[in-house]
Amino acid sequence: MHPTPTPPASSPATVPQWQREWQDSFRNTGELLEFLGLEPHSVAELPDLDPRFPLLVPRSYAERMRKRDWNDPLLKQVLATRHEEQERTGFIADAVGDLAAEEVPGVLRKYHGRTLLVLTGICAVHCRYCFRREFPYDELPMTRSKWNGVYVRLKADPSVEEILFSGGDPLSLSDANLRWHWEQAIAIPQIKRLRIHTRLPVVLPSRLDENFLGMVSELSKFKPVYLVIHANHANEISKEVVSRLKALRDSGAVVLNQSVLLRGVNDHADALVELSERLLDAGALPYYLHQLDRVRGAWHFEVPEETGLKLMEDLRKRLPGYGVPKYVREIAGAASKTELIRK
Ligand SMILES: *Cc1c(COP(=O)(O)O)cnc(C)c1O
Ligand code: SF4
Repeated sequence: MHPTPTPPASSPATVPQWQREWQDSFRNTGELLEFLGLEPHSVAELPDLDPRFPLLVPRSYAERMRKRDWNDPLLKQVLATRHEEQERTGFIADAVGDLAAEEVPGVLRKYHGRTLLVLTGICAVHCRYCFRREFPYDELPMTRSKWNGVYVRLKADPSVEEILFSGGDPLSLSDANLRWHWEQAIAIPQIKRLRIHTRLPVVLPSRLDENFLGMVSELSKFKPVYLVIHANHANEISKEVVSRLKALRDSGAVVLNQSVLLRGVNDHADALVELSERLLDAGALPYYLHQLDRVRGAWHFEVPEETGLKLMEDLRKRLPGYGVPKYVREIAGAASKTELIRK
């Protein structure tokens, strides 16, 4: 279950702009729909359907949505509908075998050399298709001394070469907290590189502020940092996102993007080509296009694999090789993400 952000403890004067913007997010379906000029009765949407995973949408993200359009690709990603309540065979709470891969709470080890840390359950946006929707975030280590135990454990394991910060969203942590984790990770001698999986640069680009970028340039000098953002549609990549991503790259991070193939959002070739073009404008490389993880409540987002394969053929025809993401599915228990290719 996703915890909902609480206001930062620091006094208003010291609260960074991005946190203030975040606090000002839409948290109520009615308000978001009113902002978009939509009548709540026209679809099967259900205001605040699941109290454990309520609507959460930063204003700057809502501003990128088209007004009066129920089919807006950004709105579709965040608006709960009654479809979520319908059970479907094969759609389960732990779709990718996270629990079986959890060594201790918050530490996931699935693949050779890589250990993923779920630093927090908090996000800046609630994506209705989220594969970690029902992750037991309340069991995560909550204090630095508990996390310190995790880093001691990692240090004693010579097979760990890369640490991934994930969540939830690790960029929802304050810079001070993030810096603490980052320093612990890169201080481990056998760690070659750090990876951060985050949607904040897309949904709340002001997160990439001077203080954060300064930290990236300082710490990436010690070990390379790979920052993997998450955008699914070109309309998400506003001018501000482009300029902040460029600044992020200039500060020394390698920037990659992963997307999820989503019905009604990006399941046609034009949308995926435009997404790759926008990412390349910003200097971010398309990394993965994920087949939807079959998590409970997300069945209505699924695109048939056959459609995905056909879309990939179109992308290969229309984009430079480095603009084509790998189309992958995560199979619980497999030794890597599984690339989907026509047999
Ligand atoms: C997806 C994932 C990774 C990263 O896999 P790459 O193919 O290297 O991007 C690492 N650990 C876990 C637990 C994952 O789910
Ligand atoms: S930002 Fe990522 S972890 Fe958070 S709700 Fe969206 S998909 Fe899930």
